[in-house]
Amino acid sequence: MLFEKEIRKLGFGLMRLPKKDNVIDIEQVKEMTDRFMEAGFTYFDTAWAYEGSEEAVRQALMERYPRESFQLATKNAAWIQCKTREDAIAQFETSLAKTGAGYFDCYLLHNLGEHRTRVFDDFKLWDFVKEKKAEGKIRHYGFSFHSTPEELDQILTAHPDAEFVQLQINYADWENPAIQSRGVYEVARKHGKPVIIMEPLKGGLLANPPAAVMEIFNAADPSISAASWGIRFAADLEGILVVLSGMSDLAQMEDNLSYMKDFTGFTKEQKGVVEKARTVLSGIPLIPCTTCNYCAKVCPKNIGISGTFTASNIYTQFNNLDAAKHQEGWLVGGHGQKQAVQCIKCGKCEEVCPQHIKIRDELEKAAALFGQQKED
Ligand code: SF4
Ligand code: SF4
Repeated sequence: MLFEKEIRKLGFGLMRLPKKDNVIDIEQVKEMTDRFMEAGFTYFDTAWAYEGSEEAVRQALMERYPRESFQLATKNAAWIQCKTREDAIAQFETSLAKTGAGYFDCYLLHNLGEHRTRVFDDFKLWDFVKEKKAEGKIRHYGFSFHSTPEELDQILTAHPDAEFVQLQINYADWENPAIQSRGVYEVARKHGKPVIIMEPLKGGLLANPPAAVMEIFNAADPSISAASWGIRFAADLEGILVVLSGMSDLAQMEDNLSYMKDFTGFTKEQKGVVEKARTVLSGIPLIPCTTCNYCAKVCPKNIGISGTFTASNIYTQFNNLDAAKHQEGWLVGGHGQKQAVQCIKCGKCEEVCPQHIKIRDELEKAAALFGQQKED
């Protein structure tokens, strides 16, 4: 057990707070915080990188509740704008100053995986968090992660002192080759680490799943939201410390509380309902990309092929263009790759694709879908 006593399994994710005239609606955040605390939940998750969130924590939580009555987590994103170890450490000091927390119950190295992992090693931030723990400024440290099970295994082997790990887990991504929720969960369990779950609703997409999935949920229980199936699926897994839900208004808070307040686990039938929903979702015809990235090794233009296909598949499954574009931006541009529209149609990628995908055609469709413009 990470904390002295077990905590309730729903965490308030503070990444997508409600806004009014483009600024965080602090009065609503206060109300949401009050409802959350009244219902007996205590875990709050913010980050240096979530704009305005750490200040909101200070106003809604820190200045209104005794410090020992809740747990606060924040994160260090050393791969953003940091040239030196001091730059990275400054993020910790900023978080302390903005939240006014005095100490963090959980401090996370934010979003390890791929090129980002090395930054934390280069800046010796693992030593830093250990020192801060000894000083009492951090109670527990761990990391959040977005990459493959193999890489997670390497990190946990290299840093066995990590006390917990935060992973993207949801029923839609359980077997998704681009996310591998099941794979990373099993690695964390193998290493005996408590798991904090993020994105249990896949960035909100599972709150509004395709109609065929909704029919399955409604047949099981028309009175309960689609979101509840996603959150409870995550909370039902063994070894879970807390499931983070990025609640953006009071209504979402009330919905989450309604089914998590007394949640003690899924019945066999309820597990079957989610299994059915996953089967229906996976039955929607998608680009069969496994994100092996062999194509990336031969592409002369560094096109973000697998990232583009993951984003296209999100559009096909959820009919949500904004969410698909957001994914495309992160998986392609955010990883230093070029957009689909820059493909020169040389065909080299298709020679190595084990899935025999017509990559050029699919990229052309994606470029049109996302409204991309060719560079000069
Ligand atoms: S066809 Fe396009 S995506 Fe494929 S290797 Fe050539 S430039 Fe890259
Ligand atoms: S080689 Fe094929 S399956 Fe592998 S990432 Fe590229 S498109 Fe996807």
